[in-house]
Amino acid sequence: MPLHLDTRLAHCGRPAMNGDSGPVNVPVVRTSTVRFDSIEAMHAQVRKRAGGLPISTYGRQGTQTHRALEEAMCELEGGSRAFLTPSGLAAISLTLLALTAPGDHVLAIDSVYQPVRKLDAGHLARNGVRVDYFDPLTERIEDRLRPETRVVYVETPGSLLFEMYDLVPIVAACRERGISVVADNTWASGYLFNPLALGADISLIAGTKYVSGHSDLMLGVIVTRDAAHASRLATTYEALGLAVSPDDVYLALRGLRTMAVRMQQHAHNALAVARWLAQHPGVDRVYYPALESDPGHALWRRDFRGANGLLSVGFRGLAETQLFAIADALALFDIGASWGGYESLVLPATADKLAAHRGWHGTAGVLRLHIGLENTADLIADLAQAIAGAQAAR
Ligand SMILES: *Cc1c(COP(=O)(O)O)cnc(C)c1O
Repeated sequence: MPLHLDTRLAHCGRPAMNGDSGPVNVPVVRTSTVRFDSIEAMHAQVRKRAGGLPISTYGRQGTQTHRALEEAMCELEGGSRAFLTPSGLAAISLTLLALTAPGDHVLAIDSVYQPVRKLDAGHLARNGVRVDYFDPLTERIEDRLRPETRVVYVETPGSLLFEMYDLVPIVAACRERGISVVADNTWASGYLFNPLALGADISLIAGTKYVSGHSDLMLGVIVTRDAAHASRLATTYEALGLAVSPDDVYLALRGLRTMAVRMQQHAHNALAVARWLAQHPGVDRVYYPALESDPGHALWRRDFRGANGLLSVGFRGLAETQLFAIADALALFDIGASWGGYESLVLPATADKLAAHRGWHGTAGVLRLHIGLENTADLIADLAQAIAGAQAAR
């Protein structure tokens, strides 16, 4: 019987025994220069590297600390090669730069992580790469693909409203046409869902979020299945001179060891908060695929092993200023971007941001909550007082 993912997470990427003993954790190896015993030894390593092996002949290419996290991320995502980047956004940029050339077309889901649009407007467009956005819930992908489409870029669930998208028909349409499917898998962070298993070519994760789990580092991870995609990424990675600190890599690997228990607790807490919000008379809708009433619930059940701490909530008849007032009145939820750490966070997703989602028809925007590892009764009491305050002031 194959080992459970939780078991593999505890064992993957550990250092080999040194003789008959060894440490539990991989050492943090810091170096710029890799030194060699002889010119012959150096040439041998350079040849192996040129042959595609993830061998380091210079500090920029990482050390055994980096190899350990890469191995663990391949294990988690079911991939064959992993690349570590200085942030999640760098993973997205690297992937799109590596897979496109002037004249190419990229089709992206319209609810993608917002900075993708900045990359598009600021760099891809300038390089002659056209990006279009589509809504898989209301459009057939076949109608939006063009002869020059090279990449379909997906993120499921979507950012901000957590719409569930079915990757199966998307992958099928792309396979037939030789189009690469790139999935931003940060929501699941490899633990809850594996796009590569459904046929995506690349899965990328902001390790900044649940992998690290403690809001103390920035990191991106790209995982590939086949050698062709790995080779294109490796070439662009080298050209851009990307490098990640072994200290951050070590912290990410340390975070990964407890991701299973953290994720389950985040999901448990978030479901309790989601259920409480859903029955609140002031609440219009809760966006959380693990909630039975969520339109994406059946698909989430089919493809995902669990949920995380992220949810959004829309209120009945509250203006944007009142949405902000709720965020301000929350005592236990810090206001700030990002998520995936142990702490609860709140961030308004305003109507102008949501306008890019074709499926959005609301007016005042929503509050995106990250439900942390605090006690849920405390979090619910905090939400209750903040919502009551905004309603009283109305
Ligand atoms: C946060 C996030 C990113 C970017 O990660 P950073 O490490 O913050 O650059 C990319 N995609 C998604 C879905 C995210 O939530």
